[in-house]
Amino acid sequence: MKYIKLYAYCLLTIGKKRFTILDTLHNDIFIFENSYLKYLEGLQKYGLSKILEMENHDSEQIVKFFDFLYTNKIIFITEQPDLFPEIKQIRDTNTDVKKAIIDIRNKIFDFNTIFSQLEYLKCDLVEIRVFKSLSFDVITNIIQSFSTVAIDKIILLIPLNYEVDFYCFLNKVEELILLDYRIHFLIYNVSEHILEKIESKEFVIKSSIYFNIQFVKNSVTGCENCGDIKPEKFFSSSIEEFMEKQLFNSCLNRQISIDENGEIKNCPSMQKSWGNINVKSLIHTYNSKDFRFFWDITKDKIEVCKDCELRNLCHDCRAYTEGDALDHYNKPLKCEYNPYA
Ligand code: SF4
Ligand code: SF4
Repeated sequence: MKYIKLYAYCLLTIGKKRFTILDTLHNDIFIFENSYLKYLEGLQKYGLSKILEMENHDSEQIVKFFDFLYTNKIIFITEQPDLFPEIKQIRDTNTDVKKAIIDIRNKIFDFNTIFSQLEYLKCDLVEIRVFKSLSFDVITNIIQSFSTVAIDKIILLIPLNYEVDFYCFLNKVEELILLDYRIHFLIYNVSEHILEKIESKEFVIKSSIYFNIQFVKNSVTGCENCGDIKPEKFFSSSIEEFMEKQLFNSCLNRQISIDENGEIKNCPSMQKSWGNINVKSLIHTYNSKDFRFFWDITKDKIEVCKDCELRNLCHDCRAYTEGDALDHYNKPLKCEYNPYA
């Protein structure tokens, strides 16, 4: 007897009207109407010939669907289905900091202390979002503090400084990256004119640092620019990321932040402060049970999102939500997707 099985790297999410199959191996996302769900289940349970007999009025549609799944390597045929058990959901018990966000406008913090606390917390990534032009001396000081700690990566989001010639600006950025390849720059507020020159290679960026530097046109005025959820920009994720999104909040799990006034928060845009960095330690805050409240708010617990076929793929936002700000289970405000449409 031949059985049809979904490849283990293909992960299913069922919504109210549609379902998605995330192909984590080939980085593809397939979306189907829920009317096809019974065919998918039937194919796996009874095989192709039996399901065609059972649903003979839909045979053409079923064969087309089967062909699509088979040619796109979503399903395979086997005589020994027991050799292919489903992947067990792994509960991630790793509690190290995944990401720290630090916002800067008018205050420069004590980065030696901050980075050493984040190193103690085994932080993977630090994102520094700068909302006004900073001198390269200040940026260099931040990077010098970073250079002594064992943190995988730092991303500096800075505006393009138009008071400095673009080549001088670029040279400074390149010099800093060449000191330490863990440093990445995301430069915003870049004019169309400059972007075109970068695109046409009139402004040459050294190939050795090409992946450490990115230019974008968008302007960033503050933390309020965060939280956009655009389904058309979703990209595929790994099995681990998919499972983490099923089990934990896809933004705030293992995240700690410092807002532009030095307040320690889950995210800089949130109201709740856990104390100021001048008097409170990140380590103490991060390890407190109350700080972790948002970590467990999965999309399955959020109104509307719990019915959405994209819930294990998209990002979440708990700072900007629809309705009552005190209700932590409302749909993200900046998502325009309607899973019921
Ligand atoms: S935020 Fe909610 S409704 Fe919007 S795409 Fe994600 S899961 Fe769907
Ligand atoms: S909760 Fe929203 S605003 Fe805060 S970091 Fe996450 S996406 Fe951004």
